Amino acid sequence: DEAIRVSDLAKQMGIKAQDLIKTLLGLGIMATINQSIDLETASIVAAEHGYEVEKTGFSEDEFIIPREADKPEDLLPRPPVVTIMGHVDHGKTSLLDSIRKSKITSGEAGGITQHIGAYYVGSDRGDIVFLDTPGHEAFTAMRARGAQVTDIVILVVAADDGVMDQTREAVNHSKAAGVPIVVAVNKIDKEGADPDRVKRELSELGLVPEDWGGDTIYTHVSAKQGTGIDEILEMVLLQAEVLELHANPNKYAVGHIVEARLDKGRGAVGTVLVQGGTLKHGDAFVCGLYHGKVRAMFNDKGKKIDQAGPAVPVEIQGLEGVPEAGDEFVVVQDEKVARRIADARQTKQRDKDLAKESKITLESFLASK
Ligand code: GDP
Ligand code: MG
Repeated sequence: DEAIRVSDLAKQMGIKAQDLIKTLLGLGIMATINQSIDLETASIVAAEHGYEVEKTGFSEDEFIIPREADKPEDLLPRPPVVTIMGHVDHGKTSLLDSIRKSKITSGEAGGITQHIGAYYVGSDRGDIVFLDTPGHEAFTAMRARGAQVTDIVILVVAADDGVMDQTREAVNHSKAAGVPIVVAVNKIDKEGADPDRVKRELSELGLVPEDWGGDTIYTHVSAKQGTGIDEILEMVLLQAEVLELHANPNKYAVGHIVEARLDKGRGAVGTVLVQGGTLKHGDAFVCGLYHGKVRAMFNDKGKKIDQAGPAVPVEIQGLEGVPEAGDEFVVVQDEKVARRIADARQTKQRDKDLAKESKITLESFLASK
């Protein structure tokens, strides 16, 4: 399975790809510039051009920081990471805003929050991290990429509307991911609000309230009027306690990309949610198909910081490309290693894309017959 692309081999020998393809043809091998040939074939054609092929033994695994289990004595408590889900118009955005506002007006240092895709709420009782992209689409997109970032889901249900399609979907997704749900019965200020109806309907989905003998936490809120906000934060922290969330801050950082984009002035920027270890200024890393080096880091208050520990979301500059939400982020020992891993991943991806393309071409060819 070790192979090299025709174009890469030609480049390394300093000859035209066309000449290499001719040599290959001479050996009875048909290959295009984008195809890969195995190392044995590469050695033979290289010899024809007076080169020897040396295997460098590159394997991505050798360079990734070994993922040993953390020792219990290295683990420290960490804040929970929360995603807000629920049916459209039931008040997800309003609840996020309300939480953010209540925390800022209560004198949290920093003032205006920046939109970086996640934010950190500090309180006397404990800290909570909120992912800023509500809805189950972001949640499932992340999970589809193998990223488990959320510890707790706040399920928002409007008390005047009850359980709807997307409420059910959110419940299913949370259950599938094994993430506990805290219910926020919202819009209790409205006429026609019927919190008991919400409890009944959600009980049918297995979310039986504590006061009915179940183990699901319910709270009543009005995101619009800002009531019940402290209570929901408290309930989330209560749920978090049960989960006993811990992380080891003393190792190279690992985490996931929460959001990334191309900024006109600053190039590729991405928000990393650090999940283990501590991310530091100057660290080399790989995320998805790209590598980079942390040139600058900002927290969700727009403040420049030098390091970020577990559960801290940070926006970083210094990416060589725009990764996707849900891509894993791993710090490695140096930039050279980071580059090699990213190159290997890109080659693999290109080969996969090409294989897909040629399959499609073949299929449409057969279909046209
Ligand atoms: P999302 O689609 O779930 O993000 O819902 P939004 O936060 O955008 O809210 C949808 C609508 O419901 C907006 O017009 C809000 O002002 C309104 N709304 C949200 N929360 C409340 C609430 O607690 N009480 C009342 N009366 N209206 C609310
Ligand atoms: Mg919204």
